[in-house]
Amino acid sequence: MSINHHVVVLGAGYAGMMSALRLSRRMRHRGDVHITLVNPSPRFTERLRLHQLAAGHTLHDLRIEQLVDGTGIEFICGAATVIDTEIRKVRVETLGRVRVLDYDTLVYALGGVTEVNAVPGADQHTYPLDSVRQAATVARRLTDLAPGSAVTVCGGGLTGVETAAEIAETHPGLRVSLISRGEPAAMLSSAARAHVYDRFDQLGVRVHRGVVTKVLPDAVELSRADLGVEPDAGEWEATDLLSSDLTLWTTGLRGQPLAAESGIGTDAAGLVVTDPSLRARTHPDIYAAGDAAAIRQAWGQVHGTAQSALPSGAHVADSIARQLNGKEPKPFRFGYRHRAVSLGRGDGVVGFVRADGTPRRRVRTGDSGVRYKELASARPPRVFAHTTGLFGLLRPIGSTRGGRATRKPATSR
Ligand SMILES: Cc1cc2nc3c(=O)[nH]c(=O)nc-3n(C[C@H](O)[C@H](O)[C@H](O)COP(=O)(O)OP(=O)(O)OC[C@H]3O[C@@H](n4cnc5c(N)ncnc54)[C@H](O)[C@@H]3O)c2cc1C
Repeated sequence: MSINHHVVVLGAGYAGMMSALRLSRRMRHRGDVHITLVNPSPRFTERLRLHQLAAGHTLHDLRIEQLVDGTGIEFICGAATVIDTEIRKVRVETLGRVRVLDYDTLVYALGGVTEVNAVPGADQHTYPLDSVRQAATVARRLTDLAPGSAVTVCGGGLTGVETAAEIAETHPGLRVSLISRGEPAAMLSSAARAHVYDRFDQLGVRVHRGVVTKVLPDAVELSRADLGVEPDAGEWEATDLLSSDLTLWTTGLRGQPLAAESGIGTDAAGLVVTDPSLRARTHPDIYAAGDAAAIRQAWGQVHGTAQSALPSGAHVADSIARQLNGKEPKPFRFGYRHRAVSLGRGDGVVGFVRADGTPRRRVRTGDSGVRYKELASARPPRVFAHTTGLFGLLRPIGSTRGGRATRKPATSR
């Protein structure tokens, strides 16, 4: 049978892999649909484990070729550099070669990049954790530091908390600080937060409340005045310099610039603005999923997590399959279940949440937290294998139709 529909999936992260594999499963009875998956690296990056790599641990080497083996998906190792939405073509730069792909349906799942341009010096003197290469560079730099050197993690969200704990546990001879504008891990319940602070005390992670105003090669400038809080007696001036031999930046996520450069409608953070079924508002032949998409639910906007990237990728596959079968796509409904946070390899905390991410009281800590976190980290080959039906059909971990809150019709933008 000749191919009459070409689906090109850009980005083989959690969302893109899930879309491609699930669509291949949905379409396996049809010979007329071809799926091409494009990713710059031949390796599937477990982005949610990059703090482990940065601290010096080794991650599984998951090869995309192997993950898509036997599915009929064509994998192209390259980066999409131009999308011409008028004539439906994508330019892909591979090693030493340029390829131009025609598409009928495009899935935009390029993830996001950490915003390092908002504070002077952050782009030059900090390391974000967006890629294996950046995390590996941090790992090398950490081993070169003399005992007692200062490592600073900017950003008190869950990525910053996990990163500070992981580095402090693996490198007990270094002085690790976490800088946070508000309370670190503010999105957790008070019981879960208390566990984070206990663990920080155990590991010697020092927390500084402040707004980073400048990053220098060997220091971070903090303003406490912007917070409207008085400095602690004797310890801080309103503006202070914290010496730092190695600084990491973990706060602020932006979409990759490609969507906006290609004329696809994005929000202020560069995320593709989607309709309820995850089609780009400006281009119904383009779907967006995962961190790259601005996804609204009845309760508000979905924030970038693997927990939401997997089901959004699955939904995109289901929507494309419905359209190819002559049906209308359904609205995407999602609700969070938990916030699972590693605190080094030896501890973790899981805060259970309502669909909109607000914390419930139930918490798991210690060994139970570690085990849950590992399960929630969704060992990708297993989840992807399940979705392709190669090893039986289980609902992917992280996939959820959410609680009651998500069953209301999605509000339009
Ligand atoms: C240290 C850390 C810890 C985290 N911990 C958790 C956690 O515990 N739980 C959780 O749910 N989430 C966590 N997250 C967030 C989670 O990793 C992301 O939300 C998730 O990776 C988003 O999946 P995605 O598929 O949208 O994007 P990604 O996983 O970022 O995948 C995007 C893919 O697109 C590729 N790509 C980029 N540009 C191009 C291009 N031009 N052409 C082709 N391909 C391209 C990238 O190389 C990548 O493979 C963590 C993140 C970090 C950094």
